[in-house]
Amino acid sequence: MVAADDGTWTLDFPTLYVVPDWIARHCWLESVGGLSSEPQPFEMYDWQLRATVNHYRVKPTATVGQLSTAFFYRRSQIVAPQKSGKGPWTAGITAAEGAGPVLFAGFAEGGERYRCSDHRCGCGWVYEYEPGEPMGRPWNRPLIQLTATSEDQTDNVYRPLQAMIRNGPLGELMKVGEQFIRLPNDGRIDVVTSSAQSRLGNPITFAPQDETGIWTDGNKMTKVATTQRRGLAGMSGRSMETTNGWDPSENSVAQKTAETKTKDVYRLHRLPPKGLSYTNKAERRRIHAFVYEGSAHIDLDSIEGEAAELLEKEPAEAERFFGNRIVAGMGTWLQQDRWDARKEAKEVPDGSRIVLGFDGSDVDDWTGIRCETLDGYQFTPVYGPDRRPTVWDPADWEGQVPRLEVDTAFREVFARYDVVRAYCDPPYWTSEVAAWQAAFGEKRVTEWHTARAVQMHAACESLLTDVLKADTTFRHDGCETTSLHVRNARKAARPANRYVLRKASHIQKIDLTVCSVLAHEAASDAIAAGQAKTKKRRARGF
Ligand SMILES: [Zn+2]
Repeated sequence: MVAADDGTWTLDFPTLYVVPDWIARHCWLESVGGLSSEPQPFEMYDWQLRATVNHYRVKPTATVGQLSTAFFYRRSQIVAPQKSGKGPWTAGITAAEGAGPVLFAGFAEGGERYRCSDHRCGCGWVYEYEPGEPMGRPWNRPLIQLTATSEDQTDNVYRPLQAMIRNGPLGELMKVGEQFIRLPNDGRIDVVTSSAQSRLGNPITFAPQDETGIWTDGNKMTKVATTQRRGLAGMSGRSMETTNGWDPSENSVAQKTAETKTKDVYRLHRLPPKGLSYTNKAERRRIHAFVYEGSAHIDLDSIEGEAAELLEKEPAEAERFFGNRIVAGMGTWLQQDRWDARKEAKEVPDGSRIVLGFDGSDVDDWTGIRCETLDGYQFTPVYGPDRRPTVWDPADWEGQVPRLEVDTAFREVFARYDVVRAYCDPPYWTSEVAAWQAAFGEKRVTEWHTARAVQMHAACESLLTDVLKADTTFRHDGCETTSLHVRNARKAARPANRYVLRKASHIQKIDLTVCSVLAHEAASDAIAAGQAKTKKRRARGF
């Protein structure tokens, strides 16, 4: 992962300074929060200028005729909080890509000028280059796609863009429609959504990708992003992502960009100091002051009001939106109906080869056992004369898990079936697990700590994949407690974009989900170890 620009790097490289000047001259906005509603030239904040000059940073070795390859970065990603001014800025960049000097046109010797009159603009603007400064020129035929997850979401960028064109000299060059803007030379700015698959593969010169933090596989936007980048590559065009902080459990386009190892992606992400807690009001204020620094129109009191309100319902979202941090939200792990769809109850004959998952608790959470056959059928076994399911809610047992009952059930499962592996989460149950290891062997009974993020994340993903994939052979017994516990499971973020399972709330238990994950992991490992094939000597009864 390449470190993001935190706003401290020195800007001492060749870049198209003509671009921000062109934007200030041509893009006019209604003033935000000022007394006058008269349109004003769009003067960039420091962070906007910083992102702009980095995006248009030119390689010292650039040669005339190069398009995207003249630039230091192939694309950019700007992570900034809600309302900090991403939308108008992206609109300004988009306007420049539509008619401004955004392509490299050689290094100036001094005295050269960019004249609007040479490029069909009648505004009379002239920009004089310094010696050695990279010069710019417009695209001959700019083809731009404005993309969003839904029609109204493009408003972040499309509305200020329309206003800019109406308010300033760009009205002469561009014709604004509801769904597209006509540019000089048959160029266009099109508004597209993920449903416009046929247009998405078209060759394009620029794509502002807004809110990529919510572009995921689930809403088909990951495919949109890759398709667009292919269309850009064909024209040697470039793209730019703008987004809030994202939920690291969703593997969004923004997240993938942030984790890319390639060095030709510019990223600006000013993260607030790590030690500050977003739930503490005074520290939250300092976080806002930090991440909104330089966004002059922002009133921190009003940001605090909105953040505090959102914090009550969606604390992670509030921290992402206004605190500019990467925080996992209330992410559902697996939709209950998707789990229920794999129900296909059947009898597992005594003596069947199975594996077992055990999650034990003490006084609060539940304790349970789930089993799985090596051909992918998962079930909650029963034990004792009453054939009780192996699920223990402490509330049913005078507030305490009945340890003797659990021990009896565990041993009974081993007696009835050919258990080749049992994965047991040991907290609170180390002595019992040790006793079971002594009775059945350490090869069969294994301590499996669910607190290990790397292993637990992988095990959860493995069960998830096998439940969801189209051609899965995974089935289960429809155990109601397990179904409920699946519904209650949420993803809790861990470092390196991993997750473990957590409860949706204190009272919503997930223990049988954990048992399911453990049983499935044991089954995968058993199959990988060749234990699915019954050994002949065993079959002969030795
Ligand atoms: Zn002009």
